[in-house]
Amino acid sequence: MNEQFKNLKVVVLAGGVGGAKMVNGLAQRITPENLFIIANTADDFEHLGLYISPDLDTLMYTLANLNNPETGWGREGESWRTLEALAELGGPTWFKLGDKDLATHLLRTQWKRSGYPLTWITAQFCRRLRIGPTLVPMTDSPVRTIVHTDQGKLSFQEYFARRQSQPIVQKIEFQGADEAESNRDISNAIRMADLIVFAPSNPWLSLDPILALPGMRRILTASQTTKIAVSPIIGGQAVKGPAAKIMSELNMEVSPFGVAHYLKDLLTGFVFDNVDDIHQERIAGLGLNTLMTDTLMKSVEDQARLAKELLAFSH
Ligand code: GDP
Ligand code: CA
Repeated sequence: MNEQFKNLKVVVLAGGVGGAKMVNGLAQRITPENLFIIANTADDFEHLGLYISPDLDTLMYTLANLNNPETGWGREGESWRTLEALAELGGPTWFKLGDKDLATHLLRTQWKRSGYPLTWITAQFCRRLRIGPTLVPMTDSPVRTIVHTDQGKLSFQEYFARRQSQPIVQKIEFQGADEAESNRDISNAIRMADLIVFAPSNPWLSLDPILALPGMRRILTASQTTKIAVSPIIGGQAVKGPAAKIMSELNMEVSPFGVAHYLKDLLTGFVFDNVDDIHQERIAGLGLNTLMTDTLMKSVEDQARLAKELLAFSH
């Protein structure tokens, strides 16, 4: 652990895969008490009677070192007996539920039915999985992403998992966001932070739901601290998922400049990949400090290196 940065108080806004890689890197650089992670929950849904929180699970499994690095979601060493049996019975198999993963959904669902809030449930899981950093859902209220497409309005999982992000996106809506309860711990953590990181998560599907919560943009804008985003777009493409496709469908420039431009009002700095050096001047022209480096995290070492560079850049 780097002595120089380990006492910085860092808040991260995160979705699943991109969020988990960034957070896992930061967890290797700063003390666990100083790392506070706000997770997107607008992808949450009910399936087969189970309450599923895909981004919280990806973050949780990654921080507990139980994740499957190949897929980016689910648990390592997973088996699929239940899904096979489900198929035999003609049940839905478009959402992949591993046998071990199911345990998480079963317990979360039972706790939810008993009336426990998602924040409490997440804290229980983190304690039992010995996760040091604080991981919180963005709200305990139901917020649901609805994707308006050329094929009509689709729920997030209908769009993403079932139709493999094929429909053309026209608009994205976060149902329930306006009335969602805010979590005082989140606003306090943001106020106390030495650094706020926007993980290289999908800006439209993972960051925007968090930003749509009451007061969130105001608190972030009011914060005088360093606020840095890492581009999920490298060389005109997303590393994984539909970010680039959505960007072009929403008529944005598919580049780190496009991402920086979209988030600029909330940021003081922006991190993007060496392959995108041609965009450096324009990004700086938005009034942002820039760090150009290798941002593709293929290994845990890459995660730790990028986290270290990000921390050094921030102070
Ligand atoms: P999801 O909720 O699982 O879709 O994950 P996120 O929203 O957190 O992250 C998805 C985004 O992460 C995609 O747009 C990817 O381009 C980005 N991403 C994934 N891996 C990397 C990486 O190693 N480096 C960077 N810069 N972005 C990444
Ligand atoms: Ca997600």
